[in-house]
Amino acid sequence: MSSRPTKYIFVTGGVVSSIGKGLSCASLGALLEARGLKVTALKLDPYINVDPGTMSPFQHGEVFVTDDGAETDLDLGHYERFIGMKMSKLNNFTTGQVYETVIANERRGDYLGRTVQVIPHVTDEIKRRIFLGSKGFDICIVEIGGTVGDIESLPFLEAIRQMRADVGSENVLYMHVTLVPYINAANEFKTKPTQHSVKELTGFGILPGIIICRSEKKLDPQLKQKISHFCNVNENCVINAVDVETIYELPLVLHEEGLDDRVVELLNIWTGAPNLKAWKKIVAAHKNPKRGEVTIAMVGKYVDLTESYKSLTEALIHTGLDSNCRVQIVFVDSEKIEKEGVEKTFAEAAGTSSIDAILTPGGFGVRGSEGKIAAARYARENNIPYFGICLGMQVAVIEFARNVAGITGATSREFDPETKNAVIDLMESQKNVEQKGGSMRLGAYPCDIQPKTLTSRIYESESISERHRHRFEFNNRYRQILEEAGMVLAGICPSNNLVEIVEVPNHPWYIGVQFHPEFKSTPRAPHPLFKSFIRAALEHRDLKKTPGKLSLKKDLDKNGASDPSREINKALGASSV
Ligand code: GLN
Repeated sequence: MSSRPTKYIFVTGGVVSSIGKGLSCASLGALLEARGLKVTALKLDPYINVDPGTMSPFQHGEVFVTDDGAETDLDLGHYERFIGMKMSKLNNFTTGQVYETVIANERRGDYLGRTVQVIPHVTDEIKRRIFLGSKGFDICIVEIGGTVGDIESLPFLEAIRQMRADVGSENVLYMHVTLVPYINAANEFKTKPTQHSVKELTGFGILPGIIICRSEKKLDPQLKQKISHFCNVNENCVINAVDVETIYELPLVLHEEGLDDRVVELLNIWTGAPNLKAWKKIVAAHKNPKRGEVTIAMVGKYVDLTESYKSLTEALIHTGLDSNCRVQIVFVDSEKIEKEGVEKTFAEAAGTSSIDAILTPGGFGVRGSEGKIAAARYARENNIPYFGICLGMQVAVIEFARNVAGITGATSREFDPETKNAVIDLMESQKNVEQKGGSMRLGAYPCDIQPKTLTSRIYESESISERHRHRFEFNNRYRQILEEAGMVLAGICPSNNLVEIVEVPNHPWYIGVQFHPEFKSTPRAPHPLFKSFIRAALEHRDLKKTPGKLSLKKDLDKNGASDPSREINKALGASSV
């Protein structure tokens, strides 16, 4: 643990939301970590929900899950992907949690008869949580959700204003992220929105030391000068975060702009230059994907909402960089599959490219489920690499139960509460759950991998730990019948005997996992399952280009070989995965 006092960087947003405040924080964290500092990041969400777990993906985007089972804002995913630090319950809190604690304190009589008020009781609770989350770190980046001027964020702004006096001005830096829009008709950038939001911020007693300006194109020095004059910051503290091709370029862009140099100067920290080798390698791979492009079909019902699958799309993209290819993700609407059939829907979604692998991610509810089951079947029967994650694993089990094991009407109790054949059923521990929030099977659980399975080769380990977020599970009553039909139960949770990983053998790559490996994949350490999946997709792509090899399937079928699929797998390179 560091004996130096923690230095705080408080990050606020101005003008509009969704301008990449979270990514700016994550990138700054990466830069400071690359200078050898011990960095953490906190996200303070001003909404009243206790956590985002109960919010619809339409409202909130992805719910990120930590090892210790917190359901959090998706920015924590960015922090973990950019900073080495693992996030926990302490790294994200909301107004809901703050008030929950304050009201519980009041009911216990902790406030000794005083009137409970926003200042000091609510602001003290906010500060207590900031201190808790930052303990032992050199640097704590604290991102305030929303935009300056939102009614909900006022207590948070007041708390971070007070922190300057609490920990000393030499230990606090305020950073404001704004948008500098380009107005086509006038053919110029406009700094007025930035001026206004900084004015608003200073009205709360917070003077930013650094302003990060998001813009479509590079800002010229005169514009930086103008912002510097109007907003009372040094010219070299106006940092331009210009749009980048890949988010993993942002640390390099911000470094070029001098962000980390200014931060260490302003906070009076002595460090060497950052080691940015890993980030440069990632960006170089993005700019020059030697192995071309691979197309992954992602089958889900929130296809218009890419934010709901943030960790997943990032895991695919950065794993692609590791394999030197560009991953193109095409979103396939599972309800469309139900209406128009698998082949037509896939063909339309793929456009001019063709699908190299199929991935069905997590999800909830019966809507679109038959389309997902059809996609799992299509992948299995056509030797297309298939990766099922959480609900994606459950639909693969249902498909196998119906079409291979012959269990008519097999389904999940989530889709049909009255079913007689719930191959996926509600967990015992979930049966009496009344409160929806925070009550799923959440966070990291151990899993034992069965030897000689594809998964054991991929993980190169017999015991792993992965993060969960679900209520339903593989029904152990169907274990034997599904195993006899050929399904491989490749991973079992030792503490509760739950099936966590299934494989379909005699197929190039067909794996379903009950957990969410995407939460643990980072650009500097891509997840082994994603690495292997992308490799299988590349092999599938290349095989399509060499029809000689593919025609083997037809020959074997015609000649009635005893186990054609084994031969096909050999040809398709399954053993090399
Ligand atoms: N709806 C399923 C369950 O609750 C799957 C959840 C998920 O995919 N995260 O078990």
